[in-house]
Amino acid sequence: MPERVEPLVLGSWPTPLEPAPRLSVKLGLLPSDLWIKRDDLTGLGGGGNKVRKLQYTCAVALAKGATTLITCGAAQSNNARLTAAAGAHLGLDVVLVLAGGPHGPTTGNLALDELFGATVVWAGDADDIEMDVRAKEISGELRHRGVVAEVLPYGGSSVEGARGYADCGRELVVQAPDLEHLVVAVGSGGTMAGLIHVLGATKVLGVHTGAVADPLGRIQGLLDGLADRARSEDHAQIRLDLEQVGDGYSHLTPRVGEALRLAARTEGIVLDPIYTGRALAGLQTAVAQGEVRPGQRTVLLHSGGLPGLFGHPDFGSVARSR
Ligand SMILES: *Cc1c(COP(=O)(O)O)cnc(C)c1O
Repeated sequence: MPERVEPLVLGSWPTPLEPAPRLSVKLGLLPSDLWIKRDDLTGLGGGGNKVRKLQYTCAVALAKGATTLITCGAAQSNNARLTAAAGAHLGLDVVLVLAGGPHGPTTGNLALDELFGATVVWAGDADDIEMDVRAKEISGELRHRGVVAEVLPYGGSSVEGARGYADCGRELVVQAPDLEHLVVAVGSGGTMAGLIHVLGATKVLGVHTGAVADPLGRIQGLLDGLADRARSEDHAQIRLDLEQVGDGYSHLTPRVGEALRLAARTEGIVLDPIYTGRALAGLQTAVAQGEVRPGQRTVLLHSGGLPGLFGHPDFGSVARSR
């Protein structure tokens, strides 16, 4: 494989940075403090943060001569959906190893996986590490039949994938040079790691979603990989809110329900139940605790996830609530 491959262009860049004055005031900030980075508007496959990662990981896959992409995730994985879309766009076959079984409803991301023509393999009650193992087994079986398959990691969070979020950090340096806080949901960690790589650890507040057991360790590992050396200074300064997980990753917590209604009813912006809703709940907490203060330029990363809302069983009741 070549040393460093040029990324593909799979989306529309730069994504907009939009003011959110009514939401800002509701949170207790000044009207001009809060802005939303619209990485839900990345184009391909319904949009979302995984498009930036796929520009790098698919470039590597193509450079290796792959004709099939394999990745794994939850049944409502946005990364699985966007890998399926990228594969369709590039003319590659896609195999998705998903947690759970075939008997649930085919809604949201899962329905889109099927629409993009991906093959779904159910992994049962497996965690992210077990699913990665299954993905590698499938790759081995395909290799036996002469098919070159590239396994993309859970959440797209390899060092290569995280480079996509260094690109987003560079857009923000231009769009919001006075940025003091960037609030971002943390799943597999590549998004936060790429942003810290460019903006520094003190400006990025990550909100853990419960997707992985050790978010801090993952982010630190990715940061070291991006920098080609250990970044102990950044390691010590990483800001992570671990309090928004509630009853677990796929559970829509009451605080997130409130955050979804708040963003929708102040700005007409739809957040998602797993990631961006938690990010806003984390920002609300940070303002309440004085960690984010009026007069500080604050950006909420809208990382996408809309199809997951339509795939969530609690959406209807949360939407209806006053
Ligand atoms: C995957 C995802 C995230 C988290 O990104 P990581 O790089 O995995 O931490 C945030 N928001 C949405 C909508 C996602 O799909």
